[in-house]
Amino acid sequence: MSTKNELLGKRVEVLDQGWVELQDIMGDDLAIVNAARVSFLGESKGGEADKKLLFYLLRHRHTSPFEMVEFKFRVRAPVITWWQWARHRTWNFNAQSGRYTPFQENDFYTPQVWRKQAKDNKQASEGQVDRQTGEELTRELIAHYEKGFALYEQALAVGVAREQARLFLPGFSLYYTWVTKVDAHNLLHFLSLRMAPDAQEEIRVYAQAIYEHFLKPALPWTAEAFEKYVLNNQYA
Ligand SMILES: Cc1cc2nc3c(=O)[nH]c(=O)nc-3n(C[C@H](O)[C@H](O)[C@H](O)COP(=O)(O)OP(=O)(O)OC[C@H]3O[C@@H](n4cnc5c(N)ncnc54)[C@H](O)[C@@H]3O)c2cc1C
Repeated sequence: MSTKNELLGKRVEVLDQGWVELQDIMGDDLAIVNAARVSFLGESKGGEADKKLLFYLLRHRHTSPFEMVEFKFRVRAPVITWWQWARHRTWNFNAQSGRYTPFQENDFYTPQVWRKQAKDNKQASEGQVDRQTGEELTRELIAHYEKGFALYEQALAVGVAREQARLFLPGFSLYYTWVTKVDAHNLLHFLSLRMAPDAQEEIRVYAQAIYEHFLKPALPWTAEAFEKYVLNNQYA
């Protein structure tokens, strides 16, 4: 089990210039077990009995003990990711303000590949466009960013407020930074939705980073039970 100190402040790079950083964490697998044992005013019995209880809780969706653990992250991601993440009402957020902080020239997301529209799912993508077409699209996208940013700066230069000048910026691609806090139960729910194959790639990579680099080392028993009963769909 990684210690809290090893994980605190750790930053994982995601996409071309995004990241997730763990700012704080409260609790561990034992905190979940001990919260459940309060039902009969008991405490940890140690080792296997604790792990067995945690697996029982997750399998039977006895979810409130998992709410005793909390994670706080600082995230930098494009608006397309923020937009989907912010739909999760059980998370707390504080986000950067484009009214307050001017955007920079390189605050835009440029994908490495261009995915094709999926045939069977109107919300999804599949495969990639060919390399030449992809390179042409990337050149055009960058030119579009440069044009939008030049207009933004022009508007600021003539005295337009930041809150309106940003209308010139390609909104979905802008990188935003926010701080967010969630308990382990609702984090698992988020991960089950956003690590799924039908989630958009630009949020799936953040969910995977959180799972692999933060949740798994911080809560190894919970991660093992989650893989068994949720990801592999083995609810009894
Ligand atoms: C693949 C995918 C496609 C999506 N497509 C769309 C789309 O086209 N349009 C769109 O608008 N959204 C879309 N969403 C967003 C989706 O509808 C949810 O808003 C989002 O995933 C948050 O899920 P949640 O409400 O379960 O999570 P949270 O908001 O974190 O809530 C967690 C759980 O708490 C409970 N809860 C929270 N708030 C309430 C409440 N007010 N009342 C009752 N129970 C509550 C629910 O049980 C909920 O599952 C999509 C999500 C995914 C994963």
